[in-house]
Amino acid sequence: MDAPDFRLDARVALVTGAGSGIGRAVALGLAASGADVACLDLAGEGLSATVAEIEAGGRRAVAVPADVTDPEGLAAAVARTEEELGELTLAVNCAGIANAAPAEEMSLAQWQKVVDIDYTGVFLSCQAEARAMLAHGRGSIVNIASMSGSIVNRGLLQAHYNSAKAAVIHLSRSLAMEWSDRGIRVNSISPGYTATPMNTRPEVAEQVRQFEADTPLGRMAGVGEMVGPAVFLLSDAASFCTGVDLVVDGGFTCW
Ligand code: NAP
Repeated sequence: MDAPDFRLDARVALVTGAGSGIGRAVALGLAASGADVACLDLAGEGLSATVAEIEAGGRRAVAVPADVTDPEGLAAAVARTEEELGELTLAVNCAGIANAAPAEEMSLAQWQKVVDIDYTGVFLSCQAEARAMLAHGRGSIVNIASMSGSIVNRGLLQAHYNSAKAAVIHLSRSLAMEWSDRGIRVNSISPGYTATPMNTRPEVAEQVRQFEADTPLGRMAGVGEMVGPAVFLLSDAASFCTGVDLVVDGGFTCW
């Protein structure tokens, strides 16, 4: 029997949120696994840095700045990806934001912005990506949800974020079923606490110590620890996985 095929050689991937944190690590990791990568984020230095690092490693990359709440911008980003790199068949949707407020005080604007980016933005990204993939008859999409879609983080007042993430998990299953007979797999990853700019600011140091104490593995994840799960789900090694939510939380949700 041959070894399972985790490689992504000669494949073209689109990664949203590729300018920072988990998205940046995933974009670099897909390139290291052989893919050419279109990097989507709001325009900024992070985006060009990710592209430059992929190119320095010998793979092709293109920056496709867009806002995930803008369907036309997403369609243009997918079109540019295919013009520059070839047929799009892989995507990881990482763009997201987080903030907090007591539910009884949260403004509609604060609620709506998180839902628009973290939930509707994932739907619109999948829609734009799948329109290309359905035409090619194959594709694999991974959406970055969160363990906050299954549990409520003690001490974090983020009803909008938690419910948007729960919606992303079920959206991923729903799309997996809609596209299962047309060659497209859709899965989600639910990270636990991960050391990204969101969680490494000095002002949250005390809170982070508590996150680490509450995690059975005793620490936050590094961003690189989301790469293996993403490569696995995208690759042919996961050819029978669709509609799965892969929880990558250092055991947090077991306790
Ligand atoms: P991050 O470092 O802030 O990266 C998120 C990226 O998304 C940023 O580059 C951000 O750009 C971009 N973005 C925000 N709004 C956007 C929009 N409307 N259109 C396009 N791009 C947009 O955060 P992260 O921690 O890596 O988070 C990545 C994903 O993992 C998110 O979905 C998050 O909810 C999820 N997650 C994170 C953790 C954790 O502990 N860090 C745990 C579970 C799940 P700007 O910086 O310009 O805003």
